[in-house]
Amino acid sequence: MRISINPYTGKRLFEFTPLTSEQLNKKISNADHTYRTWKKTTFEHRAALIRNVAKILKDKKHKYATIITQEMGKPISQAVAEIEKCAWVCEYYAENAAHQLKDEIIETDALKSYVRYEPLGGILAIMPWNYPFWQVFRFAVPNLMAGNVGLLKHASNVMKCGDSIDAIFLEAGFPKGCFQNLVIDSEKVKSVIENDLVKAVTLTGSTPAGASVASLAGMKIKKSVLELGGSNALVVFDDADLEETVKTCVQARFQNTGQSCIAGKRLLLQRGIAKDFTNRFILEVQKLKAGDPMDKNTYIGVLAREDLSKDLEALVDKSVKMGAKLIAGGHREKTFFEPTVLTGVTKEMPIFTEETFGPVIGITIFDDEQSAVELSNASDFGLGASIFTSDMDRVERLVPQFDEGAVFVNELVKSDPRLPFGGVKISGYGRELSYHGIKEFMNRKTVYIK
Ligand code: NAP
Repeated sequence: MRISINPYTGKRLFEFTPLTSEQLNKKISNADHTYRTWKKTTFEHRAALIRNVAKILKDKKHKYATIITQEMGKPISQAVAEIEKCAWVCEYYAENAAHQLKDEIIETDALKSYVRYEPLGGILAIMPWNYPFWQVFRFAVPNLMAGNVGLLKHASNVMKCGDSIDAIFLEAGFPKGCFQNLVIDSEKVKSVIENDLVKAVTLTGSTPAGASVASLAGMKIKKSVLELGGSNALVVFDDADLEETVKTCVQARFQNTGQSCIAGKRLLLQRGIAKDFTNRFILEVQKLKAGDPMDKNTYIGVLAREDLSKDLEALVDKSVKMGAKLIAGGHREKTFFEPTVLTGVTKEMPIFTEETFGPVIGITIFDDEQSAVELSNASDFGLGASIFTSDMDRVERLVPQFDEGAVFVNELVKSDPRLPFGGVKISGYGRELSYHGIKEFMNRKTVYIK
């Protein structure tokens, strides 16, 4: 039995009975059956249905936002923003998919040669709880537009979100089998990947889960995309606009109560502004309103599960024992974790080397550009980095030196349907969103006519 528990109230919310193997296989064969007709539909038809999805999301955003907040503790105003962003990705691909997937003519010695983009079939998506609607939509929308069909294995604590998304696609007019939520444990994932009717897999989640899923896919020669953890640096140079940068860095770290893969988790400050910046940063952090996630003024909610909150506390405690200084926050009670700031953080400490998935940030000081880049790159993760500076020559010099999937300048790293999203190193491989994302699970068929 999968049970959703409200992490703020501790109340049991919903129960879901896992699928039997027989039910699971039936859903997979339904997906394949639907795919055979779905892949022949026109882009116009798919776009009309995706626009229906956008409308449903916008019309019922409070209903879906409430489910998110209840199941994983995200403050309600941020949950509403998440639903609005899902509507945006629908509108983006409804508008752009046909153009992005049109035949690509390549001049050769042939009479005509080109690349034709063809869908693969059933794609398994294994998704996390931290953006329980957005992560699913950014996979589902481009893939449905491309002619693939989706099978979702959602995180076990947000099954009602998965169930609601399944219902939204049906309500929008998608044929049964185009998008299905599978109520299964992660142990059952192996049998889904091994099923011949499932053609590829994407996982957004932790690095160990990604490694396991990619190995299974590799054994069956099936493509995988991995969107894994991150430990982004926020690199602030002396010449940055301090007032703006403080606000951006606070948002980069503390939105979604710090539970974001692309959150700025390591604050690297140039020595000249370090003291002033730290003081201003703490003042802003202390203004963040913590409380009931259902209150629209709450900015800091709770962590999604108590074990996550305990794990985070252990990283902070260990770093303090190694010499870091706690200068704000540090209090934890069940799923609540007070926004916490540490200084004197070195690259050996766990809050630097590991992913802190909650409202904790460590500050490290650097002297020059090269040490800033070295510190930022001294992480096994490579999802993104933010640089704050007013010197555009410096930007040109430094951007190529960051080992990251994205570098944002004077802005927090954020996902946008128009831009590719993904990492390097143990943050994963492959890209979602933009025209890059829609092509991940396509056969790029080469056609040569003499
Ligand atoms: P997680 O524990 O890895 O879970 C993610 C999903 O994988 C869940 O559906 C989970 O199912 C499933 N799973 C876990 N172990 C598995 C295995 N061995 N085989 C198959 N499936 C498995 O991660 P999380 O705690 O939900 O999410 C937080 C992590 O996700 C963080 O590291 C965060 O940085 C990362 N993340 C990355 C991105 C990105 O775009 N790069 C975006 C958001 C989050 P169960 O719940 O049933 O275990």
